[in-house]
Amino acid sequence: MTDVVIVGAGLGGTSAAMFLARQGVQVLVVEKHAGTSPHPRAAGQFPRTMEFLRIGGVAERILAAAPPNDGFKIKVAESVRGKVLHTIAEDFSELLAAVEKVTPAGWGSASQDQVEPILLDKAREHGADVRFGTELTSFEQDADGVNVQLLDLATGRVEQVRAKYLIAADGNRSQIRERLGIPRTGKGNLGNAIGIVFDADLSGLLPDGETWLYYLQNPKFTGAYVTSNYANRHIFALEYHPEQGESMHDYPPERLAEFIRIGLDSPDLEPEIVWTGPWETAAKVAERWRAGRVFLVGDAGKVTPPTGGMGGNAAVCDGYDIAWKLGAVLRGEAGDGLLDTYEAERKPYAQLVVNESLYNYVQRLAPHMAGDDIPEPVGHPEVVLGYRSRSTAVVIDDDDPAPVENPFEPSARPGFHAPHAWLAPDQSTVDLFGDWQLFTGPDGYEAWQEAAKHAPIDVGVHSLGEHADVYGVGAQGASLVRPDGVVAWRTTDTADGESLNEVLRRVLSC
Ligand SMILES: Cc1cc2nc3c(=O)[nH]c(=O)nc-3n(C[C@H](O)[C@H](O)[C@H](O)COP(=O)(O)OP(=O)(O)OC[C@H]3O[C@@H](n4cnc5c(N)ncnc54)[C@H](O)[C@@H]3O)c2cc1C
Repeated sequence: MTDVVIVGAGLGGTSAAMFLARQGVQVLVVEKHAGTSPHPRAAGQFPRTMEFLRIGGVAERILAAAPPNDGFKIKVAESVRGKVLHTIAEDFSELLAAVEKVTPAGWGSASQDQVEPILLDKAREHGADVRFGTELTSFEQDADGVNVQLLDLATGRVEQVRAKYLIAADGNRSQIRERLGIPRTGKGNLGNAIGIVFDADLSGLLPDGETWLYYLQNPKFTGAYVTSNYANRHIFALEYHPEQGESMHDYPPERLAEFIRIGLDSPDLEPEIVWTGPWETAAKVAERWRAGRVFLVGDAGKVTPPTGGMGGNAAVCDGYDIAWKLGAVLRGEAGDGLLDTYEAERKPYAQLVVNESLYNYVQRLAPHMAGDDIPEPVGHPEVVLGYRSRSTAVVIDDDDPAPVENPFEPSARPGFHAPHAWLAPDQSTVDLFGDWQLFTGPDGYEAWQEAAKHAPIDVGVHSLGEHADVYGVGAQGASLVRPDGVVAWRTTDTADGESLNEVLRRVLSC
């Protein structure tokens, strides 16, 4: 019996695989395609995502794959050289400087086709078994495990595998979610687009070395144009209307090329189309993210419009969340209740991501939907770094109902991101995420160290020194931080081993 079968090698599946395998968990990843997707899709890693990728040991490779730039320049226009309807963002320098103060993790600029192979390589280095051209065709769970039926698409060979847990990272159209009968709620389908990757020399169209995203509201079509991390490779999206009987067949390459020429104001351009595929723009969140031994990760759990670049980032964060929790349960450090906290924490997060992206979608591409029950967003930095996890895996000791806080003024309250503070010239508290940590007041360090020796799990202990105020623990107290960098509990009291053990048993559902 293997520990975990993961279905799908998108960002959700590859990250879950890497984060599980690094803990020594046996992982089998199956992906029906012959390789990872060649479409650049999700471009860019938010700082929270980078925090996890650092823990996974791949941040440097991600940065090497695409040197960080100073952010997207985003416009809504009739065409790339045509009338600009709205400038969404042109200068991220203030945001970048503000974020630098709250995490040392930085941003990544790699695209999805660059990231997935890096995550898979790392997962394999840790012993994960990755099988492409392999489809999950059915599964059945019982009290002790999940029987999974796999089909080798090249040979037709069918294999039965038994696993302790199954991760459904099988995307928006998740068969696993469907078979579990889990409904989704939300605005639903917003539109359909043909994604196009094409090669062309577009020198001079836009300034070199910058990353551009144009939402195109052209009298002849609605779409988008994005530069890629590869010289002469570009991404274009074109809305089409299956609900009116259209299909991809109505858009042969020569017709797509014509739309590209119009959108890019390049009447003589001969784009070489290298990939096309349909994708659904939708806003839907699955009602349950756990069904017994099966967990939904990434787009299987939520699908969000791409406006805001949050879908893939959230998928990586889902992968980290389920991985540290499953790892703890499989090592016998935590009870099954910890696995319930995956849905309790990630589903509300997904809703925030969808709300934020939907709001952006209406602003940028669908102004006719304005006011149409579109939830107010809480703010992009708030979603990325200011989310409050609420579940039995945190001991919340206030009655503030807000789902987020301003991440640039972190409160260090349980449920929120543990603040960045330099413990040494080259060591931040954030560098210690990945394991359980106790950050203590300067006078309480030794006593908390003694208390941690008797804890049921390994807990690192570090004095906050002059930064105790940032964590609100006073001179004697401590803040218990989970492997995902979320504050689980804090106290201003002097060290007390019994309290620490009680809290750990509580948050680990032991
Ligand atoms: C055009 C576009 C632009 C985007 N831009 C951004 C962006 O800038 N930033 C961002 O964060 N996000 C972006 N996203 C969203 C991001 O791409 C998705 O959120 C991300 O791919 C989700 O990853 P996933 O692993 O959950 O699902 P997917 O990437 O969809 O992967 C699911 C995988 O499961 C496989 N699979 C399905 N069923 C089976 C089965 N039965 N057996 C075996 N394998 C199976 C599929 O073949 C697929 O490879 C964008 C999306 C699109 C379409």
